[in-house]
Amino acid sequence: MTTTDIDRQDVMSTVATDLPTLTKKFAERADGYDRSATFPMEDFADLFAAGLHAPTVPSRYGGLGLGPLHGRTHELWQMTKAIAGADLSLGRCWEGHTNSLVLIDALGTEEQKESWFDGVVRRGEKWVAWSGEPQAPKPGEKRRFGTTVEKVANGWIINGSKVFATSATGADWAILLVDTAGPGGARNAGSRDGVLMLACQLADQSVSIDDSWWDPMGMRATVSHLVRFEDTYIPDTHRIGEPGDYLRQEWQTAFIPHYAASFLGAAETVYRYAVDYVLRQRKNGDPFVQQRIGAMAVAVETGDLWLRHVADLWDSGRRMEARIAGSRARHLAEHLALDTVDHCVRACGARSLVRPSPVERILRDLTFYVRHDNDDHILATIGRAALGEPYDPSFYKP
Ligand SMILES: Cc1cc2nc3c(=O)[nH]c(=O)nc-3n(C[C@H](O)[C@H](O)[C@H](O)COP(=O)(O)OP(=O)(O)OC[C@H]3O[C@@H](n4cnc5c(N)ncnc54)[C@H](O)[C@@H]3O)c2cc1C
Repeated sequence: MTTTDIDRQDVMSTVATDLPTLTKKFAERADGYDRSATFPMEDFADLFAAGLHAPTVPSRYGGLGLGPLHGRTHELWQMTKAIAGADLSLGRCWEGHTNSLVLIDALGTEEQKESWFDGVVRRGEKWVAWSGEPQAPKPGEKRRFGTTVEKVANGWIINGSKVFATSATGADWAILLVDTAGPGGARNAGSRDGVLMLACQLADQSVSIDDSWWDPMGMRATVSHLVRFEDTYIPDTHRIGEPGDYLRQEWQTAFIPHYAASFLGAAETVYRYAVDYVLRQRKNGDPFVQQRIGAMAVAVETGDLWLRHVADLWDSGRRMEARIAGSRARHLAEHLALDTVDHCVRACGARSLVRPSPVERILRDLTFYVRHDNDDHILATIGRAALGEPYDPSFYKP
């Protein structure tokens, strides 16, 4: 057995023993965080105390060394599934944190890694990445969102605002995806090469949070607030990678199937809930209930097989295939998860939607979360790729 094999066993046995105990606690707290729309701070504190807070930090910096850069993608996504299965909002915050650490690992300098990974591993610092600058105003919306970036000596000055800023009141650091060409972030970037990744310390006085904007139907505990930047100075030493790296190297494609893992975590929770519910009500002899449970069982298993397939592509270095396969899995996971919730509600009935039922919260959370990317555009992108047409694998632009 090699050292790596032993390490691998150690890490996964810690995850296997500690995570189920933790996710039970997370599930119990989820209703409270949802109702108060507050960041799941205690959950993150528990993950830190259990040594599970730095999953994608390489082991030589004290992390678990999981994720697509370490040939251990499936283990990361299994953790995400379990965490999101307890609380989808927590799952989103966790994804933002772990994905940000992947970006630092891939593109950061040695000094950046030493300093920022130390903060994560020793002090439990939390990270997130923010693009969030939708440009088309909705009816009645007077505010415009977006940032401007100005180059100054030894750094950058950011002005403006971002929305959908997940973990706004919980994170210590945010990777700001900003475009030197003007408002739009990475998702609505005017130029591919102008998108920068700037690490911003959120305690900075020039950064303020407007929590009046975020009152959504679901994903409430992600606290994805409106954040303002007023002459926020970011030194050059906090720029991650080269300008344009995020879009040019298609990093979003490493994170797209991570959403799928979260959706599928929620689906598994709903499936288990439905099985318990119909057994408790002794409805297991009913052929319609049997069909619903059968459909859910297949959906959950299908999702898991797809996740494993995409993870295997990443881990065996077949990145070109992994990129589009991740979108296929993301598309499928949305439908598998939403169908599973629908089957559950039909099999169990109205009381399954009475609080504090997790199904009630998951239905709201999933409905909202799957808007993170437009499934019509995802499918069209998959079609374009299959037809040999040019396509945008990151944000599915037509
Ligand atoms: C729970 C949650 C958490 C999030 N957290 C983060 C985060 O931490 N960091 C981050 O960067 N982002 C985050 N996002 C934001 C997300 O990535 C999008 O920026 C956000 O969903 C945009 O809001 P919108 O759908 O109202 O935007 P819009 O841009 O108005 O899009 C509305 C719809 O129009 C479609 N559309 C857009 N342009 C066109 C066009 N030209 N032609 C036709 N259709 C078009 C879109 O695909 C979409 O379906 C989060 C989103 C959610 C739901």
